[in-house]
Amino acid sequence: MIEYQNGIHITGTGLWLDAKRGVDFSFVSHAHIDHAVRHKEILATKETARLYEHRFGKAKFNILEYNQPKRFSRKFKSHSGIKVELFPSGHILGGAQILLEMGGIRIVYTGDFKLRKCLTAKKAEVKRCDILIMESTFGLPRYIFPDRNEITEEITAFVERAFSLGEVPIFLAYSLGKAQEIMKILGNRGYKISVHGTIFKLAKIYEELGIKFKNYRPYKAGDLEGRVLIVPPWVRGSAMIKSIPRKRMAVLTGWALDSGIRNLFGTDDAFPLSDHADFSELMEYARLAEPKKIYTMHGFSEFPEFLRKEGFDAEQLKETTQVRNNFSKELLLNYDLFVKA
Ligand SMILES: [Zn+2]
Repeated sequence: MIEYQNGIHITGTGLWLDAKRGVDFSFVSHAHIDHAVRHKEILATKETARLYEHRFGKAKFNILEYNQPKRFSRKFKSHSGIKVELFPSGHILGGAQILLEMGGIRIVYTGDFKLRKCLTAKKAEVKRCDILIMESTFGLPRYIFPDRNEITEEITAFVERAFSLGEVPIFLAYSLGKAQEIMKILGNRGYKISVHGTIFKLAKIYEELGIKFKNYRPYKAGDLEGRVLIVPPWVRGSAMIKSIPRKRMAVLTGWALDSGIRNLFGTDDAFPLSDHADFSELMEYARLAEPKKIYTMHGFSEFPEFLRKEGFDAEQLKETTQVRNNFSKELLLNYDLFVKA
């Protein structure tokens, strides 16, 4: 039913979910670099398609809006009859989860997600399903993020402190998603913002797609007076950063909850502004979806144990595992009938 090798393959069909190597037809949950590779044809939201093309060039897309269920037509021979629906993952702009209905079984694949509200992506939805394949990056109880307002206050205090010391406040944030979120937070608070070129280009695409930002422009050497600078983490050791004499740097990542993250990034501070669900959101998701079976992806091997303690049938999806259980047998039988019908 589900095969996990270089992405998820729905066996007996030509359909892949976030395939990590080029295939004929794959759902791409969002445009992060770890997910988007070149495929012959891609199922995605229009926002993901736009961001994907910006990063990887032209591709053939099968665009599906959120909450518009669609049954594959005969054109897609290998998976005709499967009903698919994309719905918001809350991860980054355009990010989608997918619901597959095959032979009366509902399978949800979350891709990267978070349940908390943010300013640059639609809030995630949860749908009831029989089989849940969930991303679980922060699947340990120690990863509970503080309240969003609290993080915003800490970020603001960091900026104010830097200004009061005559330093340039610099945030390290991934160029797609995280950078736009901090641009929005700081822009709404009235700060003037300079951004790295890669972030600027992506922000322009966000604006095309309806997410607007205030008070920002691309970074220019010597033009940082009274401005906050946002750059991707890989820029941190560059000549550009070294040329700024007085600065105070912070990294924005869920891993900020781990001690030592500042040393790792070489920053003065770290704030847990994350695009991923924390432990409590992962557990909440499972409770709301009420699946009969959960497969976890990414993250800690201990996480399924926490789900099992709450009564869920859960296990980690491991690369090269072929999922075959009683449930899948039922599905395969139904699916055969379904295809012939
Ligand atoms: Zn992602």
